[in-house]
Amino acid sequence: MIERLVVPDPEAMHALGVRLGGALRAGDLVVLTGPLGAGKTTLTRGIGEGLGVRGPVSSPTFVLARTHPSLVDGPPLVHVDAYRLASAAEFDDLDLDFEASVVIVEWGAGMVDGIADSVLEVRIAREDDDTRAVELDGAGPRWAEPVL
Ligand code: ADP
Ligand code: MG
Repeated sequence: MIERLVVPDPEAMHALGVRLGGALRAGDLVVLTGPLGAGKTTLTRGIGEGLGVRGPVSSPTFVLARTHPSLVDGPPLVHVDAYRLASAAEFDDLDLDFEASVVIVEWGAGMVDGIADSVLEVRIAREDDDTRAVELDGAGPRWAEPVL
C-alpha cells in the first residue's frame, strides 16, 4: 500500500501529522526518511498532537529516544533519532516497548529490519523551497488498507 501526497508548506506537514497521529495505535512502528530539513520532526510534532501526547516534540538530537506520555489515556509516543546509530543491533539495544507505544523513528531506514512484521515508512522528498512529496508506504498486515 503506497499513498502519495503533495505537502505545500510546514503547516500542511503538521496537519498531515495530526491526521496520521489520529490513525495510529499502540504497537505501530513508523519510520521517517528524508534529508535534513525535509520535515520529519515537523511531521512528528503533528503526530504527537494527533495522538494527544505531552509535548513539546522537538528534534531529539541530543538523546536517542524521547518518550511523550499520553494526555488522553492512549499510548505514549516514543520519538527516536537514529541518525547516530550504526546498526539495527544498536537500535535493538534501545529496548523500546513496541507493544505499548507508537514508535516514530527519524533516520530509521535499515534500522528496524526484523523488528516488527508491520512497518509504515514515510518518505519525504524536497521538491522546492517549501513543497514536499510524501509517500506513505505500509508493509505488513497492519498497513494492508490505506492509512489516511
Ligand atoms: P527534519 O526533521 O527532517 O530535519 P524539520 O522538521 O526539523 O526537518 O525541519 C523542516 C524545516 O523545513 C522547517 O524549518 C520547516 O519550517 C521547513 N519547511 C518548509 N516547507 C516545509 C514543508 N512542506 N514541510 C515541512 N517542513 C517544511
Ligand atoms: Mg529532525
